[in-house]
Amino acid sequence: MPAQFDINELHWLLDIVQSIDVGVVVMDREYRIEVWNSFMENHSGMSSDKVSRQTLFELFPEIEPNWFKKKVETAVMLGTRAFTIWEQRPNLVHFKSYQPITGLADEMYQNVTILPLRSATGKTDHVCLIIYDVTGVAINKRQLEAANQQLQELALRDGLTGLLNRRYWEQCLEREFARHMRYESPASLVIFDIDHFKRFNDTYGHQLGDEVIREVSRLTKLFARETDFAGRYGGEEFVVLLPDTELNGAAQFAERLRSAIERLQIEHGDELLKVTISLGVAEIRDSMINHTVLIEEADKALYQSKEGGRNRTTLAQTE
Ligand code: GH3
Ligand code: MG
Ligand code: MG
Repeated sequence: MPAQFDINELHWLLDIVQSIDVGVVVMDREYRIEVWNSFMENHSGMSSDKVSRQTLFELFPEIEPNWFKKKVETAVMLGTRAFTIWEQRPNLVHFKSYQPITGLADEMYQNVTILPLRSATGKTDHVCLIIYDVTGVAINKRQLEAANQQLQELALRDGLTGLLNRRYWEQCLEREFARHMRYESPASLVIFDIDHFKRFNDTYGHQLGDEVIREVSRLTKLFARETDFAGRYGGEEFVVLLPDTELNGAAQFAERLRSAIERLQIEHGDELLKVTISLGVAEIRDSMINHTVLIEEADKALYQSKEGGRNRTTLAQTE
């Protein structure tokens, strides 16, 4: 303390601590409260008289004592500040948030500084907590992250069907191909095309054509597993990559999908329209030089299904 310490200055300092818009708490080494500013009074609903000499853990059961004491003791021992940030732990104490954008944050997000206070004797016998309300920043960041994620999702998917778009699907195939080459895990490809699709467009219009594509996609998603990659390869051409699946397993999937689509009925006025698809199935083999060979093999099998009368599944010939 300066020799010429002016008592007025102390009053100013106390005024500032009182009215500043961050939480200020001073505790002794037993975590008993000694200073509690108006930010703390307003947000906790407890006056400084009421909390005086109570411990932090009695007032805020949400604080995990072992974790918090360790943090404080380390700061005291090293004589340095410690911090908690909202990205790691949304808040230290549960205060209601008064942000106008409700629904996103019911509780205040907080950054907290733990400040060891040394007395004139050089001993650290008090600790100060400074609690910052960072709810606005946190909400903005969360909203931005959510929007970015949505955008990223959208960029990978086809707008009409919600299936993976061709570009992204091909990346998935390349990755899966590399995985097979490294770990020898099996993987198969089912490719299919709607039979006589032009007739839907020509007879009933483009809108109905789109509806057929959406319905076929819906069933494809329904039958594919979470780990499969289902994509729209072209206008009315689709691909499903099945990781960890051998040719026979993929053929079963293909047949289940084919017969489900065969049973599909699409309403158009008082007509019920039927749809069928032709499929080709191929499995990755070690001798394939790259992923396009797999597509070519499956595509060749699909062509045979068309030649053979449509509404059927053909397995790629392996020599
Ligand atoms: P096949 O049994 O041999 O497959 O006969 P197909 O009539 O289905 O064959 P084709 O590939 O000749 O016709 C596909 C048509 O699909 C041509 C194109 O105008 C139409 N098409 C492509 N994309 C879309 C789309 O997004 N919506 C609609 N409504 N039609 C599309
Ligand atoms: Mg077709
Ligand atoms: Mg086609």
